[in-house]
Amino acid sequence: SQVPAGAGAVLAIDLDAIAGNWRVLRDHAQRSGRAVECAGVVKADGYGLGAVPVATALAGAGCRSFFVADLEEATTLRAALPDARVLVLHGPAAGTEREMAALGLTPVLNSLDDIARWRATAVALDRPLAAYIHIDTGMNRLGLDDRGARHLAADPALLTGLTPAGWMSHLASADVAGDGLAAEQDARFRAHLARLPGAPASLAASSGIFREPALLHDLVRPGAALYGVNPTPEAPNPMAPALRLLGRILQVREVPAGATVGYGATYRTTAPARLATIAVGYADGYFRALGSSGHVTIAGVRASVVGRISMDLLSVDATRVPPEALVPGAFAELIGPDRPLDDVAADAGTIGYEILTGLGRRFCRVYQ
Ligand code: PLP
Repeated sequence: SQVPAGAGAVLAIDLDAIAGNWRVLRDHAQRSGRAVECAGVVKADGYGLGAVPVATALAGAGCRSFFVADLEEATTLRAALPDARVLVLHGPAAGTEREMAALGLTPVLNSLDDIARWRATAVALDRPLAAYIHIDTGMNRLGLDDRGARHLAADPALLTGLTPAGWMSHLASADVAGDGLAAEQDARFRAHLARLPGAPASLAASSGIFREPALLHDLVRPGAALYGVNPTPEAPNPMAPALRLLGRILQVREVPAGATVGYGATYRTTAPARLATIAVGYADGYFRALGSSGHVTIAGVRASVVGRISMDLLSVDATRVPPEALVPGAFAELIGPDRPLDDVAADAGTIGYEILTGLGRRFCRVYQ
């Protein structure tokens, strides 16, 4: 009912499902009876679904801490949620420290240089500033390396003026069942924690929450699972789908056997077929790799994508769809309960994260 008649595609985002997923993650993180805090990761505009509406829904469910990537994302979130704790994963870019302090943001400090600059800001402002400090234990991406963390432990004065709000590290392969790296990373993290001033510790993101309880520490930082990505790829998805991507049928056509479809004429029908042309293409984030490998559902019936995906259009073989459901203006489901995000990602040779964050801007977005 909120969809304008002219909308070619609709991205329906279920905020209740996202809030429900957060509760499932929180409850799972607290399964051993410990009061583990469950934050929400809303970087990349809430994994493409809208950081402000998502974070507002999570705050309503009781979430108090939100992770974003950079100052721009943090500024947007701070305006919407003045009382929330907003943590900035990329840390304070040089020259932005005062702005971050004025906005009451909590940067994640990823190097001794980050620590020195944030500390200098605290000294200049003559007030303690909170910070999360990131220690790399195996990603080799961001965070203090082993030497840096030992240096910090040996000279706690480097933290004078700062309030360590937490220590964090990030798991490289928590989504791989039976993988030993998570335990190794945890052991390295704990060895550092034992030498450093006490503060809450955070290691697990979505998948880590479902691994050994030892990985939970004091705060978990799920992102993808909030949005319905399966955090336990080897088992059924415990998360509810959070979005439906619907594309409008523009035309229906009957073609004979031997007809080619789309650019490059890469697909040829082997029997007479009924094709439906849908108003979604790769410009909308429906990956070109889904040409001839993906499928959609129309009135619950599967219809395979045929031929290459165009910029704004794709074709499906809808021969098996009941004709009364196959009318211009009707919607096909490209992602949703009938067509799980993770399956679409697998068909495209990627992960749900990339599908989510690649979703285009021109969908009619509906929050429900
Ligand atoms: N923590 C850090 C440091 C991250 O980079 C990310 C996302 O990439 C997350 C947490 C959330 O991870 P996930 O989306 O797998 O839950």
